[in-house]
Amino acid sequence: MIKANDPFLKSWVEVPAGSDFPIQNLPFGIFKTRYLSPVAGVAIGDYVLDLVYLHENGYLDGIGLPPGIFNQKYLNDFVAMGRKKARQVRERVSELLRVDSDELKGNPAREIALIPMREVQMQMPVRVPNYTDFYSSEEHATNVGSMFRDPKNALLPNWKHLPVGYHGRASSIVVSGTPIHRPKGQIKLPDAEQPVFGPSRKMDFELEVAFITCSETKLGQSVSTAEAENHIFGFVLFNDWSARDIQQWEYVPLGPFLGKNFGSTISPWIVTLDALEPFRTEGPIQTSEVLPYLKFNGPKNFDIKLGVLLQPEGGEPVTISRSNFKHMYWNVNQQLAHHTINGCNLQVGDMYASGTISGPDPGSYGSMLELTWNGAKPLQLPTGAERRFIEDGDTVILNGYCEKDGVRIGFGSCQGKILPAI
Ligand code: MN
Repeated sequence: MIKANDPFLKSWVEVPAGSDFPIQNLPFGIFKTRYLSPVAGVAIGDYVLDLVYLHENGYLDGIGLPPGIFNQKYLNDFVAMGRKKARQVRERVSELLRVDSDELKGNPAREIALIPMREVQMQMPVRVPNYTDFYSSEEHATNVGSMFRDPKNALLPNWKHLPVGYHGRASSIVVSGTPIHRPKGQIKLPDAEQPVFGPSRKMDFELEVAFITCSETKLGQSVSTAEAENHIFGFVLFNDWSARDIQQWEYVPLGPFLGKNFGSTISPWIVTLDALEPFRTEGPIQTSEVLPYLKFNGPKNFDIKLGVLLQPEGGEPVTISRSNFKHMYWNVNQQLAHHTINGCNLQVGDMYASGTISGPDPGSYGSMLELTWNGAKPLQLPTGAERRFIEDGDTVILNGYCEKDGVRIGFGSCQGKILPAI
């Protein structure tokens, strides 16, 4: 039992109802303020707790953290210390924030350590060496296969035998709030013989959750499904922006390229695997016998309620999809085992995105491609406007939270605005 997950814990820091960041969460991130260069912090209610202050003032003594570990632009060095170290820090921060603890609460200088979220600017939590995107939702793969190939054979023959994926682009992963310019590229219109060049006309989002690894493995080494979780530090929300028209023309035979690599947006707080423990659940039943290296034991999915909102320029955000991470056919253990079965090495800070998470009903589809069926059924917004795909000035907001035993922990917002092509 992880003490910091106790549903009865309360903090002396006020946590508003419906907050993503009660004392049972305590996710790690990197923030800066007008006065502070980027440093590590933990979210609590509407505040960020400065880990540099805690470390430099002896609050984390005994954990064995090197000096300066939190006074860095990225969390990679801390993440590389592994899950046990992060667990010790999270447990200690939890102790300090408990309603019956006076250690930090009684310190008149505590306001230096506790900074209102409205005064901080969140940064990329890790430097991302590698990014992989899977394709692990059966509903999503079936929808896409039905649209572009054949509804009767929507899933390709390999789909139920391995978690399909591709290597994405790490350099263009940005933190929530960073605007994205509409990409330009080659587009082949259905009735044209030749491609044209121009801004994408089918700008889309993909609702995903990504995990971040905390260890280096050697070339040639594989990670089993049983060991996989020792290598997973935590999770973020992930929007894998996609230009469907560019993608459709370019993707055969090697898969996504310029239709995807112009930008991906993540939520800023890494919610630890520890914090997600109480929200484990069984995944969908795998209907095809898998090879031994993909077999696993126990509940490996997580009940994370996901939402997508669309906010037109100057308008209010409107919910356009509600899904759940538990729908994933392939779980993260299988994804990591498959990724390394050939000897591919892991690095600290690598990001592994789930693939678009669509649920069984149309209100739970995780992309505009599916929600509007490739533009055939436009979404009607309350203002009377229609959307087939994402327009310039639109902001797409992903959110996600788990709820059980009166505890609700969330990821914070993962949002990005689409600007016109340059
Ligand atoms: Mn994707």
